[in-house]
Amino acid sequence: MPIDPRQPYDDDNIFARILRGEIPCNRVYEDDWALAFHDIRPQAPVHVLVIPKGRYVSWDDFTATAGDAEIGGFTRAVGNVTRQLGLDAPGYRLMVNMGGHGHQEVPHLHVHIFGGRQFLHMIVD
Ligand code: AMP
Repeated sequence: MPIDPRQPYDDDNIFARILRGEIPCNRVYEDDWALAFHDIRPQAPVHVLVIPKGRYVSWDDFTATAGDAEIGGFTRAVGNVTRQLGLDAPGYRLMVNMGGHGHQEVPHLHVHIFGGRQFLHMIVD
């Protein structure tokens, strides 16, 4: 079920628990602003999630309330992850699902990185 993006931040959501080290993840990158790990149900040969360390429910919450340093740090972290994964030469796709129509399921902002194959269609559902 998609989340209601207006809900308050839930400190027990799965990504909050991963950030606290209570649940393991297959980590690929970490810095002061972000943690990146492999998606547990990959939809492409490379499927990595990048999450901010701050408590943000969604992209809407993040862009409305995060400070400029946090937004800059997180955005740069996404780029660092794609380069670390070697995706900058072949290319890749980024996706952020937001709220009901976006079918966001985890109430902690996450950027999906998809790579490792050619993508053709913008949206398939
Ligand atoms: P979204 O629909 O944008 O909220 O995507 C949530 C993503 O989180 C899905 O692609 C899930 O496969 C992924 N996911 C859920 N739990 C975990 C977990 N424990 N570790 C890694 N990825 C997860």
